[in-house]
Amino acid sequence: MTTQPIDRFLDYKSPEGGCNTGDFVEVPLGPRKVLGVIWGVGEGRFDPSKIRAVSRVLDVPPMGQDMREFLVRSAEYTLTPLSQMVRLATRAPGLFNPPSMRKIFRMGTGTPDRMTPAREKVLAVLEDYGDMSFTLKELADMAGVTSSVVKGLAKQGAVREEDTPRDVPFPLLRHDFSGVALEGDQNGAALELREGVADRAYSTVLLKGVTGSGKTEVYLEAVAECLRLGRQALVLLPEIALTAEFLTRVEKRFGAKPAEWHSGVTMTERRRVWRMVGAGGAELVVGARSALFLPFRDLGLIVVDEEHDTSYKQEEGVLYSARDMAVLRATYCAAEVVLASATPSLETWANAEAGKYKRLDLSSRFGEAQLPEMRAIDMRSEKLASNHWISPTLKAAVQMRVDAGEQALLFINRRGYAPTTLCRACGEQIGCDFCDARMVEHRFQKRLVCHQCGETKPMPIECPSCKVEGKLAPVGPGVERLAEEVTELFPDARVAVLSSDLFSSARALKEQIVSIAQGGADIVIGTQLVAKGHNFPNLTLVGVIDADLGLQGSDLRAAERSFQLMRQVSGRAGRAAKKGTALLQTFQPEHPVIRAILSGEEEQFWRAEAAERMEAGVPPYGRMAGIVLSSTDIQEVFDLGGEMARLDGPLRAIGAQVFGPAPAPIARVRGRHRVRLLVKAPKNVPLQKALTKWIAQFKIPNTLRLSVDIDPQNFF
Ligand code: ADP
Ligand code: ZN
Repeated sequence: MTTQPIDRFLDYKSPEGGCNTGDFVEVPLGPRKVLGVIWGVGEGRFDPSKIRAVSRVLDVPPMGQDMREFLVRSAEYTLTPLSQMVRLATRAPGLFNPPSMRKIFRMGTGTPDRMTPAREKVLAVLEDYGDMSFTLKELADMAGVTSSVVKGLAKQGAVREEDTPRDVPFPLLRHDFSGVALEGDQNGAALELREGVADRAYSTVLLKGVTGSGKTEVYLEAVAECLRLGRQALVLLPEIALTAEFLTRVEKRFGAKPAEWHSGVTMTERRRVWRMVGAGGAELVVGARSALFLPFRDLGLIVVDEEHDTSYKQEEGVLYSARDMAVLRATYCAAEVVLASATPSLETWANAEAGKYKRLDLSSRFGEAQLPEMRAIDMRSEKLASNHWISPTLKAAVQMRVDAGEQALLFINRRGYAPTTLCRACGEQIGCDFCDARMVEHRFQKRLVCHQCGETKPMPIECPSCKVEGKLAPVGPGVERLAEEVTELFPDARVAVLSSDLFSSARALKEQIVSIAQGGADIVIGTQLVAKGHNFPNLTLVGVIDADLGLQGSDLRAAERSFQLMRQVSGRAGRAAKKGTALLQTFQPEHPVIRAILSGEEEQFWRAEAAERMEAGVPPYGRMAGIVLSSTDIQEVFDLGGEMARLDGPLRAIGAQVFGPAPAPIARVRGRHRVRLLVKAPKNVPLQKALTKWIAQFKIPNTLRLSVDIDPQNFF
């Protein structure tokens, strides 16, 4: 029997023994058994004697009222059916199967035949933790020994081995296990965050500080306070590859690893996390955005690290921003939210300006580390051979670092070998058969790849259009092509390429990052993957190949994104004792964004950007919603789109405007034609209600998909 979560509201008779609001239950649905949550007393639409009864109430804590309110409100906000929100909150496989068994280890009564340093370490951990038990891996990891050492001790009874249900609590964290001595403005910030947690009331704080200023150390103080109070804490991170480093830090600070929740976690472990979060056996969860929907029993703190990161916006299924939902959730459970970033989103910056969020600044890097010196390389006066992208000035700077035994990073935000493949005979650019996107050559995989839908095909020999052979040529640089140039310019240097698609697994990527940090490469070439918080102590130069990329384009957030990315990448240089330099290759050094990056006058940049958005009435000073209609039938989408634009009464009633229909920037994805409408509204109007009324006017055929994206981040 497979039990699947139910996806709508249904009426059932309560089971023998009754049930309560919030209970997780198994109910019959046709021939199947499915699971659901009791949402309340029925409205008396059905005669109880005629409907089926709940099969059983499951043996897990009921969904709390705060969680139910949060789901209702987030469903209203994102215009998602409540049942779909509930599904997000029950997404753990085999949640309701009877627990399976596993082996755990605790202090035994026997004496080992002989002591070795490794054995002593194991016994010391057990002694240290009194009556606690561990899985084999946990115990071995904590003692820093191999699992065979633990097994050896178990054989002799010095360690006791037991079978227990698999979903065991996570090791206890100790809020005062160890800590660093905070310095300067770290002290004040940590104190404020601790007080915020101790207040047991909702608040949101922007923790702003350059990379390396100690934001993590400071928010770990808030976690410590939360643990001390016996409440639970959640830390959201944008990137799985970062988790390992973070877990180690948590272990150093609190004496054990926290629970993990992201796509790399096994199914059994997810189930354990879900259950333990509800039962109170997990004090701290580190995870990706969906961790927000875990059934925390008493959540007292949510940290959103790198809060500006675009991966916090879920772009498929339920469209939500984890940053905004974190704030919403916190209001229902009286928790503190910490939004940490070196380059906050304009939304958050504006909320702090308006006094809705508190703001704490860490103004300098910790210890000796200094901010890198930033300079532009004016590409208009550099001489480059054709199909080369590294200017003589940048080349000389890289050579200097390599000679000094330091590391240099070259940043280019383009995956693959070349962004375009062009036929030199007929001018054809090779595109995807299913999307309106160009195929990108990936020489490493010897294939063309569509970055939109993932479709791949072998590199053709003849042009698909004019059939002439041998005329297809790459145009422009991608990370792989840049690597070729680097090898040519620096034949003796060790070169590493960091691009998400060059690694078969998150683990392989992690290993490469560790190896680079330990000095395993002289020159690192990377895509935006490298912008995200990795620590390379020996890195002293960052060269940005094309700082202008991202300044073009009509995207509302182009300038903001470009600013954030450049600052983050530049922040990779000089994180340890050595001073770093960042060089930006640009054709427009006088562009306001480039100037703001170079001068480091961030507040000025944000104020200018804010003024422009206010003028245009766009977020965060106005509201937006993106509507995408898609169908295999192009006429159908344009017909409905046109009708929607005409019948805009409910929107006009709140002062909102509709733009479109227009082909979406990517007008075809996986064979479906896409049309976009954009709704712009003033800030404090009931946008969602108006949208619902507006959309309800239309009959939407089954063949057509309509999705509404509230506060869209991307326009594709
Ligand atoms: P951020 O999160 O702002 O990038 P981190 O908290 O990661 O900064 O700090 C950068 C580095 O400096 C880390 O290795 C961290 O352990 C160290 N560090 C920061 N503050 C202190 C302190 N007060 N004492 C000791 N080490 C610190
Ligand atoms: Zn495609």
